[in-house]
Amino acid sequence: MTSVLERFLRYVQIDTQSDPNSESFPSTAKQLNLSNQLVVELQELGVTDAHVDEHGYVYATIPSNSEKTDIPVICFCSHVDTSPDVSGAYVKPIVHHNWDGSDIILPDDTNQVLRIGELHDLDQQIGNDIVTASGTTLLGADNKAGVAEIMAAAEYLMANPAVKHGDIKILFTPDEEVGRGTEKVDLIKLGADYGYTVDGEAIGTLEDETFSADGVKITIHGVSTHPGYAIGKLENALKIAADILAALPKGSLSPESTEDKQGFIHPVQMEGIQEKATLSFIIRDFTVSGLHEKEALLKQITDEVLTNYPGSSAEFKVQEQYRNMKEILDQHPQVIEHALNAMKMAGLDPILRSIRGGTDGSRLSFMGLPCPNIFAGEHAFHSRLEWVSVQDMEKAVEVIVNLCKVWERSHFND
Ligand SMILES: [Zn+2]
Repeated sequence: MTSVLERFLRYVQIDTQSDPNSESFPSTAKQLNLSNQLVVELQELGVTDAHVDEHGYVYATIPSNSEKTDIPVICFCSHVDTSPDVSGAYVKPIVHHNWDGSDIILPDDTNQVLRIGELHDLDQQIGNDIVTASGTTLLGADNKAGVAEIMAAAEYLMANPAVKHGDIKILFTPDEEVGRGTEKVDLIKLGADYGYTVDGEAIGTLEDETFSADGVKITIHGVSTHPGYAIGKLENALKIAADILAALPKGSLSPESTEDKQGFIHPVQMEGIQEKATLSFIIRDFTVSGLHEKEALLKQITDEVLTNYPGSSAEFKVQEQYRNMKEILDQHPQVIEHALNAMKMAGLDPILRSIRGGTDGSRLSFMGLPCPNIFAGEHAFHSRLEWVSVQDMEKAVEVIVNLCKVWERSHFND
């Protein structure tokens, strides 16, 4: 047994909710309460260079204890913030020991019930110890499960010098949930060759693919007149915008009609007056060519709608958001291979999955740190039904330690 549960229970009681409307960095100062505490604990473990930088990132190094030189430097990364969607204040974690599979009714709001059949993967957990919140908050397993797992692995490595490893870097980031987790990260200072975010869901999963993502903004310039004298002249930008939305494919190419490897065109914001309107879209696909096809379709729809409004025009702007990390990871196959081996060593059947979204890892991969995502055991995140099992967290610790071993063992000096 490791310290992972005890750490997890402590960390979730520290409110670290991030704020999408804040301009400061980190977006909320309270995230530092956890980051500072993690540094104190790392120092106590003997990780002497652990510190929080001026932006709220925790950096730390577990130095190599191997005779080999030039072992690739591996980083483990988790985020300290929790989702703005659900309160993370006064979280009361509850451990349901040796769970028998019956409904788990959360005491502070008995409408909140974890039921087999309603929550996926829960049926795999009978006999395990499940941790939930009490019904009025999220739990914060996303991503404090990952934080606790990395900390417990660090404790293990520091206490067991017989386990050989290269330099291991630890990175705890703020503001992942508001899309700014990598904004101020210093990869030169971090000095790692490869990374793993520990922020995945089911035990044994390894995610090496994310969406590729663009944003599209269509700005429509209509023809504005006094409405009382508009006959034959007015071309209302709001109606043009509505026509474009109405002309989008029905039953396909939308978030509500796609799954697995299918992409979509998704309107996310609309605003305007009769003279001018803007439509904002997010475009998602697993390939860049798929993104371009969807953007071409949206442009075609826009042009077709505009043929009904000869005095009006539209600007069509595409902005790159992030790219599928598989593009990068395919150039470094050992990153995935070693993770699969580390899981097999822990007795797991690894499952490769793709994420219908982006991760800090996809951004880090394109910034120069190839970085797939390994499971932390977190489930039903961003909700009051969020749960994690102690056994899954223990396995994640084992996989992190195994990864350190695998990178050392598979390295041969030239
Ligand atoms: Zn997360």
